[in-house]
Amino acid sequence: MLESATDFIRQQIDRELAAVVGPSAVVTRFPPEPNGYLHIGHAKSICLNFGVAEEYGGRTYLRFDDTNPLAESLEYVKAIQQDVAWLGFDWGDRLTFASDYFERLHQCAVKLIENGNAYVCSLSQEEIRQTRGTLTEPGVDSPHRNRSVRDNLDLFARMKAGEFPDGAHVLRARIDMASPNLNMRDPVLYRIRHAAHHNVGDAWVIYPTYDFTHCICDALENVTHSLCTLEFEDHRPLYDWVLDNLSLNARPRQIEFSRLGLEHTVMSKRLLQRLVSEGLVEGWDDPRMPTLAGLRRRGVRPQAIRDFCSRVGVTKQDNQVAMELLEFCVRRDLEETAPKGMGVVNPLRVRLANYPGDGEALEAPWHPRRPDLGRRSLPFGPVLHIDREDFAVMPPPKWKRLSPGAHVRLRYAYIIRCDEVVTGANGEVAELICSYLPNSKSGSDASGVKPAGVIHWVAAHAAKPAKLRLYERLFKERSPSGADFMASVNHSSLAIASGLVEPALATSREAHFQFERVGYFHRDPKLPNTYNRTVTLRDSWRPPSGGQPS
Ligand code: ATP
Ligand code: MG
Repeated sequence: MLESATDFIRQQIDRELAAVVGPSAVVTRFPPEPNGYLHIGHAKSICLNFGVAEEYGGRTYLRFDDTNPLAESLEYVKAIQQDVAWLGFDWGDRLTFASDYFERLHQCAVKLIENGNAYVCSLSQEEIRQTRGTLTEPGVDSPHRNRSVRDNLDLFARMKAGEFPDGAHVLRARIDMASPNLNMRDPVLYRIRHAAHHNVGDAWVIYPTYDFTHCICDALENVTHSLCTLEFEDHRPLYDWVLDNLSLNARPRQIEFSRLGLEHTVMSKRLLQRLVSEGLVEGWDDPRMPTLAGLRRRGVRPQAIRDFCSRVGVTKQDNQVAMELLEFCVRRDLEETAPKGMGVVNPLRVRLANYPGDGEALEAPWHPRRPDLGRRSLPFGPVLHIDREDFAVMPPPKWKRLSPGAHVRLRYAYIIRCDEVVTGANGEVAELICSYLPNSKSGSDASGVKPAGVIHWVAAHAAKPAKLRLYERLFKERSPSGADFMASVNHSSLAIASGLVEPALATSREAHFQFERVGYFHRDPKLPNTYNRTVTLRDSWRPPSGGQPS
């Protein structure tokens, strides 16, 4: 038994395993439809399915639910595999496609027809919808419901042979048009679709529906626990009905849990697709997207996503989570792992009037608590850049940065004092003339001067120009709602600053950094000299216990 049966699914598995005599295995599957990129909601399902199997010494299938050739593509198939692997899960040789089972699924359909459990219906899609009834009224039997087995087999064979156009016929389960559960009112099992499929090409012109396919694939793969989101709860009787009426070797069970929702974003491939196709973001991997590809490009590491998913937990309750929780997990992960360098977002020139020579090489650790991350050389010189935000002509009370006449320490370097402010034609501060205290070097400070604070900087002669992409929330509202979600898009969610970074940072092989005092940044894998701000340093979220972040 597992020590930490932390959620209702794991508790249930514990009880089952306790009741079983002899060996038992937990087999799960993650079944994405390849019609878009995975988002962080999928990560919850991935962590659950792979996590449960791992914890109980079982196994997990990565099975593509590819029954709708119109929306699906190989691009998505590849991206999904990349994302699952990136999260750190290994499906081994258990990569499957629902389409691998098309032959078996077809045999199952024939079996249902032979046993009088399915029939070919020639009503149009619209007519089927209209005769389905409502929550308060029963549906109406299809006029084709009592076709003979022979006629059904013949028509189904001709559907498969491509004799009919799309929509001419469907195969329906013969269950109960008066069932209180609409999913049980003779649901469609197969439809005609003359469309090439990314995996099986032109082999089929009839395609099975999700409800028919999923339970059979689960059984064929000996899945024990078919974990899915709550919207499938009403489909469970159909899941069970299909399996009850076929004699397959295994009997998987469906268990539902609540979907993950995240504030300030949307979590549906269909809606995310719209953002991409209408050009509101720069692609599925735009760092503002809640997709795993977007989060990765932004600089979120898989460890943070897994931590986030475990904190979110698995329940049946509505699960709308604050973005601040994700940001908290991201900071917590990067704080310990990302080297700390210096980057200036909005450069202001500082000239050290009393600095002799061209410059010198200082040295600093990449991370004060991680000596294993090593040290880097830090060029210093007579002209520097600091962040504009770190200077004020008229400082507010308790200003801990630079202002006329004040002293500050340059991180890992010297203490300087601002002697003169040079103003440009437009009245803006153009340059600061400062002096440095030669005996104030960090680590061997003999100046006796107490600076107002410590600020970051780069040396003008050595700094590298960098585009810093600063992201805000993609949606203004916490819960961008349904049809209207496009109206809530934040059109100023991206600002691009022309900044400067210290040279060691530009040449480092690392990709994740903390820019001291500014935020966490990730070198963009596609755009040269570009860094994506993963998250700011400020943390407004605390664990609900009120305790310290663990
Ligand atoms: P989407 O609306 O994003 O297209 P979907 O459910 O149609 O979601 P699938 O590819 O069918 O996407 O999902 C694969 C698996 O991931 C399913 O088992 C589904 O239940 C699960 N899943 C999808 N979205 C979420 C979510 N927000 N939270 C938890 N699990 C999810
Ligand atoms: Mg789906």
